[in-house]
Amino acid sequence: MSASSRPTIVAANWKMYKTIADVGTYMSSFYDALPDAGTGVRLVFFPAAVLIPAVVEAVAKRAQVGGQNCHWESEGAYTGEVAPRMLAAAGAELVLVGHSERRQLCGETDAQCAKKVVAVLSAGLDPMLCVGETLEEREAGRQQAVVLGQLSRAIDGLSRDEYSRLALAYEPVWAIGTGRTAAPADAQQMHATIRDAVASIASPSIASAMPILYGGSVKPDNAAELLGQPDIDGALVGGASLDAHDFAVIAAAAAEVAA
Ligand code: PEP
Repeated sequence: MSASSRPTIVAANWKMYKTIADVGTYMSSFYDALPDAGTGVRLVFFPAAVLIPAVVEAVAKRAQVGGQNCHWESEGAYTGEVAPRMLAAAGAELVLVGHSERRQLCGETDAQCAKKVVAVLSAGLDPMLCVGETLEEREAGRQQAVVLGQLSRAIDGLSRDEYSRLALAYEPVWAIGTGRTAAPADAQQMHATIRDAVASIASPSIASAMPILYGGSVKPDNAAELLGQPDIDGALVGGASLDAHDFAVIAAAAAEVAA
């Protein structure tokens, strides 16, 4: 499969921002600013869990909606947690797993990520697994070992059908929310390395079909160059997705690259 036959996915991670009152205005501005609703690009919004039904309604099937996190159990005495099936019932179609903020701030481990990937798939949702190295790990030359370790520990042993529902996001931790972006060539190199690893873990055909998004300070002015790399199949956008106009510019850049 060639790069062009993989979907281009542009995803907004709203993190712990926005309330229900912001959703309608945001979506009106976003779709006003996005000619042809980003034809050729799969758009995904990852809002806080309580906003999912409102975002599902506002996007009116023009985009998919996902949860930012979930627990690996389907129910139980886990105060404050959300089960994948609850996200599904709220209208979510995907779930982010292993975002670096959860790994760093909430101590999420690779073993937990592996359980979450399975739980998400079992609930009929599609996981988007985030991997990425810290600055310290990159400076020690360990970025490849770290990223491939995170990957193999979280996705080993899935079925062919399950692999076909998985997307990956390479998000170098030092580039998230810092304004520092990976050089497009460096990001491309890591994406190609990740794809080779997926070929070994799963199969070459699964690897060539798997969307691998880049995340880390993607902005309107750097999106096109990053998205133009052959193994970068989309963007996971945090800060810049909070502004409807900026996110529309990024989605339009992706649509242009994908055309
Ligand atoms: C993210 O939160 O996944 C992210 C990439 O954030 P930012 O775009 O702000 O770096």
